[in-house]
Amino acid sequence: MEIFKGDVLVVGGGGAAIRSAIATKEKYPQAKVFLATKGELGKSGVTAIACSDRMAFHATLEHTEPQGEEAWRYHAEDIYKIGGYVSDEDLAEILAKNGADAFHYLDQLGVPFAKVDGKAHQFVTDGSIYARACYTGPRTAVHIEEALVKRIRELDIQVIEHCMVSELIIKEGKIAGAFALDTRLHEDRPENLKVFHVKNIVFATGGPGKMYKYNVYPMGMGADAHAMVYHAGAELVNMEFIQIGLANTKTKLNFSGSLMRAVPKIINDKGEEFLPKYFAPGTSLEEIYNLVFEKGASWPVSYEHKTHIIDIAIYKEIMSGHKVYFDYSTNPTGFTFSKLSEKNRERYFTEQNKDFGAELRETSPLYRLKEINTPSILWLKEHGVDLEKGDLPEIAPCAQHFQGGIRIREYGNTNISGLFAAGECAGGQHGANRPGGNALLDCQVFGKITGEKAGEQSEKENFVPVNEQEITAYQAQLTSLLENKEGLPAYKVRAELQDIMHQAASIVRTEKGLTEALGKLADLQAKGIVLDGNGLPFLLETKNLFIAAEMVLRAALLRQESRGPHLFFANYEDSTPMGRKDPEWQKYIVIRKGSQGMELDIQEPYHR
Ligand SMILES: Cc1cc2nc3c(=O)[nH]c(=O)nc-3n(C[C@H](O)[C@H](O)[C@H](O)COP(=O)(O)OP(=O)(O)OC[C@H]3O[C@@H](n4cnc5c(N)ncnc54)[C@H](O)[C@@H]3O)c2cc1C
Repeated sequence: MEIFKGDVLVVGGGGAAIRSAIATKEKYPQAKVFLATKGELGKSGVTAIACSDRMAFHATLEHTEPQGEEAWRYHAEDIYKIGGYVSDEDLAEILAKNGADAFHYLDQLGVPFAKVDGKAHQFVTDGSIYARACYTGPRTAVHIEEALVKRIRELDIQVIEHCMVSELIIKEGKIAGAFALDTRLHEDRPENLKVFHVKNIVFATGGPGKMYKYNVYPMGMGADAHAMVYHAGAELVNMEFIQIGLANTKTKLNFSGSLMRAVPKIINDKGEEFLPKYFAPGTSLEEIYNLVFEKGASWPVSYEHKTHIIDIAIYKEIMSGHKVYFDYSTNPTGFTFSKLSEKNRERYFTEQNKDFGAELRETSPLYRLKEINTPSILWLKEHGVDLEKGDLPEIAPCAQHFQGGIRIREYGNTNISGLFAAGECAGGQHGANRPGGNALLDCQVFGKITGEKAGEQSEKENFVPVNEQEITAYQAQLTSLLENKEGLPAYKVRAELQDIMHQAASIVRTEKGLTEALGKLADLQAKGIVLDGNGLPFLLETKNLFIAAEMVLRAALLRQESRGPHLFFANYEDSTPMGRKDPEWQKYIVIRKGSQGMELDIQEPYHR
């Protein structure tokens, strides 16, 4: 058994965690700081691997329109308004106000942001009026991670890799430490336990994407922190709001932006173009293809964008037993480029960087994609999908980002003393929709804030003792898990859980589906779970996913309206979701552990 004694433990290895650990050390050089991460630093988690058309980092900079000292207020308003008024307004302000500081920090660390005349080039996303999205290209997050990893290596911070934090030690409502396991030891034994005896803990463990059958998250992205804080008495919020969008199941690449604007032929495994049957009778093909084009700019499903009909169609087609593919080799039936609206054609030409001429542009989606985004064709080829040879990328609605999570307040603090959360595992700062670029910003802003606050608190506080009995009790708990022979192997349990979530809590949500899913989840849990070849960390991760999955299902069931990615239908067969209920549902759902199980509380968000 190894014991680590120090001031602050930061859990995670992504943008939020690394920024948090750096912030503690830069402001409090005497502090003893640990960073524990499940994988290898710089190689695990979303920040280290994410890639899309053009990854955005939102920030209101000195030159961002409309300029002036108060320009950040427009950004805060967008976060709040586009989020559907179900986030804490003051947290939106903190995000917006600290954007410039976060950007300049990364810039001076050497993140290669695109610039014009020495100033960050910014583009518009998600219906904002002002351009705030900074970027390096398709790998903005990776560049941020690389710069932060370089910086953390310069500081006296102890990084413990392959280390899964698995349980909190809390006494009288205060953090005393945490237990952790080595993720490389598949037959991990309780005697290999690591014990962190620390004054403050920052969770920055990312989103629990692995609860969904279709997701674009890397390995290890579970709900460990969500489950640990829930058992410890902390609150979670906005768990029903999850960014889900169309992505390739093989490469996990989001099919957004130009990949939609090339207007591919959308077919099922029988070659049928099924889209029209999901639109209202009489909808013209012209209208449908314009919507496919416009989906490029509204990637995650959202009630507020009419393009959600395409997500619904693809989801229902998959639910009816089909596979769905995008075919770039031939045009959709009846498509001609001239049928795109003038506005959409203009949008197309702003992106054009090759000109094959009008005739070839009309020939196929592949020619159009070559005109507006050749690198995406090359990227897909490198990853085993050759569009030029006629490969058909399989597409499904995939989970990409959790808007909600561990409920935080202005210092990233939770309702447990000494416990903080930052980045995607935290909730309350984003609403139902999250404007693109604000997740990477969030990680940097609340990463820094939590790190500094944890450092400050550590200076003032004493250690809460951890005793031998607590360690022995946890070891006994692990032993009983290892020795349990009743139940299904962990990999099977996880696959069933993912299926339940796909069926009930993806694009189409209904009262009936969610209620049945809660029953199925309980039945599955009751069967028990046994160790398989994936080891103890995988087993614990799977158990933790149950908690977060139940939160999503219960919150989705309670919110009987549509808002952001939460499309609630009166009946599965209905073609349109129920409406958004304003102002009645401008509220968020807070989740905590009660004496009888999970408690859900509808609350008024913090307003100015
Ligand atoms: C394809 C894709 C495109 C995206 N595009 C954008 C975009 O353009 N703009 C934007 O703002 N956002 C975007 N996002 C979202 C954004 O990238 C993520 O929300 C953000 O990177 C999450 O950072 P994080 O630090 O919170 O978590 P992560 O980077 O996911 O890191 C979490 C870390 O915690 C570790 N961990 C988990 N559990 C434990 C445990 N129990 N013990 C120890 N360690 C643990 C993991 O191994 C990992 O290292 C995108 C996401 C994806 C997947």
